Amino acid sequence: MAASTISGKCLCGQISVSVPQDAFNKTENVGICYCKNCGQSGGCLASYNLYLSEEDVKIEGQPKLYQDPNTDSGTTVERAFCNNCGSPVYGRNPKFIGLIAVRLGLFNPLPKPGMALYCKNRPDWNKGTIDGVQEHEAMPEFTEDLKKWLQEKGVVI
Ligand SMILES: [Zn+2]
Ligand SMILES: [Zn+2]
Repeated sequence: MAASTISGKCLCGQISVSVPQDAFNKTENVGICYCKNCGQSGGCLASYNLYLSEEDVKIEGQPKLYQDPNTDSGTTVERAFCNNCGSPVYGRNPKFIGLIAVRLGLFNPLPKPGMALYCKNRPDWNKGTIDGVQEHEAMPEFTEDLKKWLQEKGVVI
């Protein structure tokens, strides 16, 4: 765990999440996901995530887990949320062992995203782009850059 961390919490305060400040500030770790299930599970347009190594995340409190079998990517995604106030806390995809997607709505301030996933699901009235954001129609392609980025986080691929 890095020396300096930043913490966020769910709406009721029952669950708090701490992540390293340096990972939080890296735009390349921040992504918006427009897949149908992210939107539906959060009651929102898209989930807004900090992707990092599970080892770097400290969670206090006990989130409720939902194993979501009906995803666009075909894998069962684990979705964690507060069982009191319903705030989404994180998601984990078994395709990327060791990687966690912490829901950034828990934090303040909110860091700038570097990527947007499942843009094919964005409604027509929301096509405006964010400066410097890499847009992907679905999951990103497995490029060498992506592999390197995942390996840096200790993800088994
Ligand atoms: Zn809560
Ligand atoms: Zn998603």
